[in-house]
Amino acid sequence: MSRICVVEDEVSISELLEINLRLEGYECEVFADGKAALEAIESRKFDLILLDIMLPLVDGINVCEIIRLKDNETPILMLTAKNSSQDRIDGLKAGADDYLVKPFNLEELLLRIEKLLKRSGSKPVVSFNEFSFGQFTINFLTYEVRNSKGPITTLSKRQIMLIKLLIDRQGQVVSRQEILEKVWGFDVYPTTRTIDNYIVEFRKIFESNPKHPVHFYSIRGVGYKFMA
Ligand code: CA
Repeated sequence: MSRICVVEDEVSISELLEINLRLEGYECEVFADGKAALEAIESRKFDLILLDIMLPLVDGINVCEIIRLKDNETPILMLTAKNSSQDRIDGLKAGADDYLVKPFNLEELLLRIEKLLKRSGSKPVVSFNEFSFGQFTINFLTYEVRNSKGPITTLSKRQIMLIKLLIDRQGQVVSRQEILEKVWGFDVYPTTRTIDNYIVEFRKIFESNPKHPVHFYSIRGVGYKFMA
């Protein structure tokens, strides 16, 4: 039985979804804000996430990005409130697999869910689970780092989330605030020194001269930037 995570703050819609998904034979859990959904997704496995964009506490675009830092596999279907093409573009950029504009046709929604679940069941291992730069290859599933000679180290889960966020935004400065929210979570307040320590670690692993980095840059007072 497939388990579906529904993230929707409009009770009339979430009730409609819950009833109909159960009727279709799915297990279903409903969350009314992005933060509660992220906590649940962190603690248990869902087969599909149905995600509204306009949500309290953490919006759907951010929820989607945070999920994708750790998990490329679970299908995400976005619900966009208005017929805004920008919302749809943002959603797909953040890593959603499909979207549906509200008000949606229930039958169409159920068909798309079925399709996404089928596709994910037979999904081959995709190449974007790895990222290569210079002589290094990082595997986002096994957390392993290799160079041309073989495996050199295994990163922690938090290191993988941070490095993936920086790589996803290659060439752009990612702010400290965003890093803390996306990698450390919304309730945790580590000092920015914590991020610095992670960057120092990355430089030891990936830079030929850690004192003169060419991949992991700190932009004083602003944030961090990765360049391949
Ligand atoms: Ca909403």
